[in-house]
Amino acid sequence: MRYHETREQSGEVLRLTLQLMGRHNAAFHPVSYAVWYEYAAGLNVPLKRAADSLLADKAVLEDADVARLHCRFIAERDAANADRFEADLRRIMDELARQTAITGEKAERYGEALGEHVARAAREVDSPALSSLVRSLIERTVEMKSSVGALQSRLDTSAKEVRDLKDALERAEGEVLTDPLTGARNRRGFERAAREAAAARGENLAGCTLLMADIDHFKRVNDSYGHLFGDQVIRAIAQALRAQVKGRDTVARYGGEEFAALLPDTPVEAARALAERVCAAIRQSRIRRLDTNEYVGGITISIGLAGSREGEPLDRLMLRADEALYASKHAGRDRVTVAAGD
Ligand code: GH3
Ligand code: MG
Ligand code: MG
Repeated sequence: MRYHETREQSGEVLRLTLQLMGRHNAAFHPVSYAVWYEYAAGLNVPLKRAADSLLADKAVLEDADVARLHCRFIAERDAANADRFEADLRRIMDELARQTAITGEKAERYGEALGEHVARAAREVDSPALSSLVRSLIERTVEMKSSVGALQSRLDTSAKEVRDLKDALERAEGEVLTDPLTGARNRRGFERAAREAAAARGENLAGCTLLMADIDHFKRVNDSYGHLFGDQVIRAIAQALRAQVKGRDTVARYGGEEFAALLPDTPVEAARALAERVCAAIRQSRIRRLDTNEYVGGITISIGLAGSREGEPLDRLMLRADEALYASKHAGRDRVTVAAGD
C-alpha cells in the first residue's frame, strides 16, 4: 500500500483533490482521483512535475492528459514495484530450496552412517560392562537416527512446498504477462521481453527489428459482424503472426486491436518479407462466424517496421515503427512500410 495518510490527513487531501478535479475537464473517475490525489498530497514528484509542465501550456487538462499521467506515473510505477517484489521472492525461494536440499542430503548421510555404526557395535562388543554401555549408546543412537529421519522427511516436505510455491509464482507471473484472448503476451509481457532482449545484448537492441500491426477498419468489422466476431479476428491475427515468426521472437497484443513483434537479430529486409507474408495470409484468410457459420473474408492489417539503431531506447523505436504503421494506413492500408531511413 503506498498511501499512509490517516483518515484526517486524507480528508484534507480529498478536499484539495476535489477542487483540482473540478477545475479540469476529465471525468470524475478513480483514475483522475488517483492522479489528483497524488498531486495534491505531494506523494509523486515526477507526476507533479509533468502535470505542472502540462499546466504551463494549457490551463485545463482533458481526459486524455489525465489518462496519460496515470499511465506513466502511477500504473507503470505499480508494475515496476510488482516486478521488484517478484524478483525478491524468487531469489528467497531459490536460496531456500538450495539450503533445504543441502540440509536434507546431510541429514540423510548422517542417518545412514548412524545405521551402519549401530549394526557394527551390536555385532562386535562382547565384554558385559562394555556391552551394557554400548547398548545404552545404541539406544540413544537409534533415537537420534529416528529424529534425523523425521527431520529428513520434514525437509523433503518443505522442499516440495517451496517448489509448489515457485510453480504458483511462475503461473501467476505468466498470467500477468499474457493476454487471455489470444494467449500472446500483453503490453507488459512485451515490455518485459524487450527489456530482457536488450539486457542480453548489452542494453542494446541494435540489429533487432520491431513490427507494429493494426487491424484495418476494425470498427467497421465490429459494426458489421459484432464484437464476438471482432474478438475472433483478433485471435486469428495473433495466430497468423505467431505462425510466421521464429521461436525467439516475441509476439504481443499491444493494445485492443494492435500487435507488436520484436524480432531479435533480424535485418529490416528479412522482417519486411515476414511482414508481407503475414499481410498476405490475413488477406487470403476466411474467418468463420461462430454464430452463423458464415465465412467472412476481406480482413486486412497494416504494418510498420523499424530497425533498432545503436543504443536506441525502446520507446523511440516503437515511435518510429508506429509512424511507419501510420504511413501504411495513409497509403491505403493492407501493406507494410519500413520507417524512413531504415
Ligand atoms: P484504422 O484502419 O484506421 O485502424 O481503423 P479502425 O476502425 O481499425 O481504427 P479505430 O482505432 O478507429 O478503431 C479501433 C476499434 O477497435 C475500436 C474498438 O471498438 C475496436 N476494438 C478495440 N479492442 C477490441 C477488442 O478487444 N475486441 C473487439 N471486438 N474490438 C476491439
Ligand atoms: Mg488502432
Ligand atoms: Mg485499426
